[in-house]
Amino acid sequence: MSTKTEKLYYQNAYIGDFYASVIEVSVIDGGYDVILDKTAFFPEEGGQSADVGFIAESRVLQVYEKDGVVHHITDTEPTLGEHWCSIEFESRFEKMQCHTAEHILCGIIHSLYGFDNVGFHLGEDEVTFDVDGVLDRAQLDRIEEMANDVVFSNIQVEAYFPPENKLPYIKYRSKLDISEGVRLVQIGEVDTCACCAPHVSYTGEIGIIKILDFMKHRGGTRIWMVAGKRALRDYRARYENIKKISGMLSTPQSEVATTLEAYVTETESLKSGLKAARLRIAELEAGKVKKTDKSKVFLLSDFSIPELIAFSNIANLKVGGITVALSGCDGDYKYVISSHTVDLRSMTKEINKALSGRGGGRTEMIQGSFSATLAGIRAFFEK
Ligand SMILES: [Zn+2]
Repeated sequence: MSTKTEKLYYQNAYIGDFYASVIEVSVIDGGYDVILDKTAFFPEEGGQSADVGFIAESRVLQVYEKDGVVHHITDTEPTLGEHWCSIEFESRFEKMQCHTAEHILCGIIHSLYGFDNVGFHLGEDEVTFDVDGVLDRAQLDRIEEMANDVVFSNIQVEAYFPPENKLPYIKYRSKLDISEGVRLVQIGEVDTCACCAPHVSYTGEIGIIKILDFMKHRGGTRIWMVAGKRALRDYRARYENIKKISGMLSTPQSEVATTLEAYVTETESLKSGLKAARLRIAELEAGKVKKTDKSKVFLLSDFSIPELIAFSNIANLKVGGITVALSGCDGDYKYVISSHTVDLRSMTKEINKALSGRGGGRTEMIQGSFSATLAGIRAFFEK
């Protein structure tokens, strides 16, 4: 049983490089489980993903804590003894920004509406948190405004372990009912919350907080947010996107939504006009069909199934046997077959078997596809 790991991230959230001794290594499935005497690697905990980095030359892929011992999963085996360790601090700092931002938002939500935080996910790409009450966009806009004012006020963020006898007298938010070793994270008057993760030291370091989307979730609200460097990346991506759309529409960025709306309406009306025109063409094509007592195969190059049906409805009146309307090319034909003299449903199996087809339908009309050749189809029906 290992002794508890000394947690450097409790002493200073900004330690990215440090010396530590490898005191235990065990081989596990797909890597090694490494225990250090002390660590700045924050494990996967409370919805936040673990830090990654290196212990000497070994890449740290995952970190978890069990009974006070921090375990580092590495790709190669480090030797026992002291090593230089480094965490990918850029991504850690982004998490510190997002995590502190979440405290501010939840603190404000709690003080305005009394709702509690009941879920949190801080991954590599997405940050979400859940509260146990319903919020609308106007309320979230106000919360976002207030949260950014907290950022601009550059308030100190303090993390400490209060003496146990003092704890009952301190007002703080807590997801878990823990009474031992409670670490409090206090952001001035804005929020005090029990939390074990690393945070920034001053709210100004967060830069900006932006609430993205929200939805009703289990009787409360799930909120997507970005902060700090992630918010900058998000802004950059959105800006590039809207710039591109604005260029394509030849319209100012502020008017793309209105212009696009008009485009969509116009496209929809063009589409329905085109659909009607194509059906009319199919009917006109059928008008050219000459009366016959025999069965007849028609190839109608790029007709859709509804167009083949429109064609067949008229052509079939002039064909005494079976009307076969095809679209496509050898090996890949769509078919609509109709007749007012032959029971097609009872023939479906035979037709599909002979022409490598699939499909079916009613007595008067069947539809599907053939992987046969045009010559083969003609030979079958027009024999
Ligand atoms: Zn926290």
